[in-house]
Amino acid sequence: MTQAIRGMHDTLPEEIATWQQVEDQARRIFERYGFHEIRTPILEKTELFTQTLGEATDVVEKEMYTFADRNDESLSMRPEGTASVVRSALQHSLLHVLPQRMWYLGPMFRYEKPQKGRARQFHQIGVEVFGAAGPDIDAELLMLTARLWRELGIAEHVRLEINTLGNPEERKNYREALQAWLRERADQLDEDSKRRIETNPLRVLDTKDPQTLAAIKDVPLLADYLQEESIAHYEGLKALLDAAGIAWVHNPRLVRGLDYYTHTVFEWVTDRLGAQGTICAGGRYDGLCALHGGKDVPGVGFAMGLERVVALVNECQEIKPLHPHVYLIMAGDAALPYGMALAERLRNEIPALRLQNHIGGGGFKAQFKRADRFGAEFAMIIGDDEVNNGQAALKPLLAEGEQQVLAEADLITFLREHVK
Ligand code: ATP
Ligand code: MG
Repeated sequence: MTQAIRGMHDTLPEEIATWQQVEDQARRIFERYGFHEIRTPILEKTELFTQTLGEATDVVEKEMYTFADRNDESLSMRPEGTASVVRSALQHSLLHVLPQRMWYLGPMFRYEKPQKGRARQFHQIGVEVFGAAGPDIDAELLMLTARLWRELGIAEHVRLEINTLGNPEERKNYREALQAWLRERADQLDEDSKRRIETNPLRVLDTKDPQTLAAIKDVPLLADYLQEESIAHYEGLKALLDAAGIAWVHNPRLVRGLDYYTHTVFEWVTDRLGAQGTICAGGRYDGLCALHGGKDVPGVGFAMGLERVVALVNECQEIKPLHPHVYLIMAGDAALPYGMALAERLRNEIPALRLQNHIGGGGFKAQFKRADRFGAEFAMIIGDDEVNNGQAALKPLLAEGEQQVLAEADLITFLREHVK
């Protein structure tokens, strides 16, 4: 039998409740802050990613699913959301009324080594804001994410790390100094880091190799290359977070994997998920729109790894799959048409009611067994008597209580009260 592709997972009905909870909460919070959803295609021209993400990033170097279509055009499965949102915003002239707040949700694809917390198809929920250059919007995004963690019950298990990468000029100066410093110590670094000295030296700071970490203990930091404006931006962010009571940790080694970041970068990290503990990451990318050939509009955003957020929520609480309120049991020739029509009227009257019809006939006993299996709260039983009298019998299956026979109007009143 054919199996799913390695690193690409099914999300089964028994697991879906947590996903839906996270997605619903996120959607609701985005609306409360004035964000609008945008959906872009999963496939884009490969050049979109090579031009915007940077040739020397992990994603472009080795993680993209790239192929030629039947017309020999090079296409890639999107490895992240920002590039596509920028493309779409420019293509459809969305950047005339600013700031523009958008969010997205969907699958992303990266050819990485599958492991705990790392898949080849994974899902991100992200936001992008265009046309706001100050630390106020950076702070708003962090307040919004902090709210989401609170509402999901995971706030105590995450911490916020922040850093600044300065503007492109400061970064360039620092990059050169860092490169010179690293070249002198190249023989003490792991192979990946050694290669990155020339291609993407900031990424060396982000290494997980213990020997390299020791070798770069006293590495010069970007903070020493920052000028007044960048410092003011960063200080402004910290002050806004403090005023809102959002705890943060300054992590001078925090750099992001993609080239386009400027100023603020941040990660929300947990210790509860093992090595892959970053559940949400983002920052500012002021040059990205211009890089993409649009006008020079500042941007800031983040993406959270949905699998990791779901795993953390599951660590902290049990979210049960939805069970039926009522399982409809019907026996006798007249019961089926009467019962199914009654069920439709109940669904009309009580939209929140989860009512599951028994399908496939059989005796009372077998149908009750099914009702138990599906975890229904009540069995609604229709036999000849109920049909003749225009009634229904209702029997509690999970709680104590007697079976009662109700006329339709009373049934509606009872169930409406119950599902409230
Ligand atoms: P890492 O250093 O873990 O590879 P990254 O810098 O590649 O992270 P981003 O591109 O910033 O990650 O993606 C944002 C978030 O998406 C990550 O913090 C993580 O939660 C999630 N994520 C990234 N790659 C994967 C993956 N392969 N599987 C599952 N989640 C992922
Ligand atoms: Mg990665």
